[in-house]
Amino acid sequence: MKMDNLDRIFDVAVIGAGVIGSGIAYELSKRQISVAIIEKAAVPTQGTSKGNSGVLHGGYDDPPGSLRGELVLAGNRRYDDWADELGVNIVRNGSMVVALSDTDVAYIRKLYEQGIARGVTGLELLSGPEVLQLEPNINRDVKGGLRAKTAGVVCPMTVVNMLFKNAVANGVVPFMNHEVTGFDLSDVTEATGVVTTHGTVRARAVVNAAGVHGDEISKMAGVGGYRITPRRGEYILLEPHPDYNVSHVIFPTPTETSQGVLVIATASGDILIGPTAQDIPKDEQDNTATTLEGLHEILKKSRRLVPGIRTELTIKTYAGNRAEPENGDFIVQRYEEPTGFINAIGIRSPGLTAAPAIADRVVMFVQEVVGERPLRDDYRYIRYTTFDPALEAMEDVRWADTLTPNLDSPPSVLLDYGWEFGVGSQLYQYTCFSNRGLGADLGTTFQNELITYLQKKGLSFDEIVYRAGQPPQVVSHGAP
Ligand SMILES: Cc1cc2nc3c(=O)[nH]c(=O)nc-3n(C[C@H](O)[C@H](O)[C@H](O)COP(=O)(O)OP(=O)(O)OC[C@H]3O[C@@H](n4cnc5c(N)ncnc54)[C@H](O)[C@@H]3O)c2cc1C
Repeated sequence: MKMDNLDRIFDVAVIGAGVIGSGIAYELSKRQISVAIIEKAAVPTQGTSKGNSGVLHGGYDDPPGSLRGELVLAGNRRYDDWADELGVNIVRNGSMVVALSDTDVAYIRKLYEQGIARGVTGLELLSGPEVLQLEPNINRDVKGGLRAKTAGVVCPMTVVNMLFKNAVANGVVPFMNHEVTGFDLSDVTEATGVVTTHGTVRARAVVNAAGVHGDEISKMAGVGGYRITPRRGEYILLEPHPDYNVSHVIFPTPTETSQGVLVIATASGDILIGPTAQDIPKDEQDNTATTLEGLHEILKKSRRLVPGIRTELTIKTYAGNRAEPENGDFIVQRYEEPTGFINAIGIRSPGLTAAPAIADRVVMFVQEVVGERPLRDDYRYIRYTTFDPALEAMEDVRWADTLTPNLDSPPSVLLDYGWEFGVGSQLYQYTCFSNRGLGADLGTTFQNELITYLQKKGLSFDEIVYRAGQPPQVVSHGAP
């Protein structure tokens, strides 16, 4: 299969299978366009897209006139389409910026006016007592709040995995474990060669969605001048507790440089606190270790918002690195030189929110390169279904094949049970296939349930190298 695909010329090659690359591949797959997606990891969602807050931002606070402001607002609205099409759960629980001083109150009024001017709906200014009525665990000194009802939470890994699954199930060819190392631009009028560690993928249009590595890939293609700084954000994930539960996404009043440490009611009902914001050296960009300092900072700052926060019920800590572009704005652009090259880089926060709108924009650019292509009428949508170990409905071999395209000779367990995604000792990295979302599935409940289930199926622990997958639920042919 691989040789054939390396001999082909694709319409588009997308580099990177985070939310941006997978979203672009998914939207492209709806059209009569041939697409390759090239990813250095074995599976999608291994970059920034698994290390974030999972918040769909309301779009009132991004700089007016910026591309980011435009795409975040549009992306927030477009998420309803992705949720319907992919069956992923969006909880529109709303966000609340908490003002703890008179200066903060003046600032949130400014944010409110900015949001109204931009057409953000569902914004309201609240008094201190009104905030406490909605969120009794907030600091009793609260002086006011800005509520954004259109904000919400989502499990980012579920979103990316479902985008990727749908793209691949509808013909996008994945090149996993293929790290892009350069470009062959010798015959760009016919196709650009994307040189990888396992051969060259040729395509008429190339989309760079390589996250924190986006500036390096762009430079390899001859489009230099971008500098992306990795900015680490650390988190502590807590099981819920009446002393600190909240129902919204709670923000402090932001400063000019940071949105601050949040207290988030996650899509799976846990409480997430963080992130920090620390610029780190470029050669540290793939390092997502948490630090004692960072965790202490999170605790101190989150307790200013919700004093009852404690850590006895910590599920885990984690971190993600933001891809901070120099001027703070997203770089979503098509270039004449080299022909067909498109950047979707510098997708800092809130890029998860903007992802559908970024995908729409890139689809437009791609069609400027390869010509306008109609929507397919044979599109097969596959929706997320909750993984339930008790269900013995994981027998679909076709599904396993679709999802493990990087495996040359799948082991027999793959064929017997319908597994997806090689995971080995990294099992816990692939979260959110259960309805526990960002929460306790990580390394605890879900992993234990899964292993117990697999052992009941007669597998020894050593054989458990592939994650069990949900059976596909094919919900429709054509548009949903
Ligand atoms: C701390 C933090 C909090 C955030 N909170 C939010 C939030 O609440 N809401 C929100 O909307 N956004 C948030 N964001 C932003 C959001 O997470 C990012 O904008 C988004 O995940 C970026 O996705 P991406 O696809 O561009 O990057 P990534 O997910 O990093 O994907 C890039 C992919 O490219 C691959 N790749 C890199 N180099 C190569 C190569 N040479 N060859 C092949 N593949 C390669 C990587 O392996 C990776 O899979 C947050 C980010 C952070 C770090």
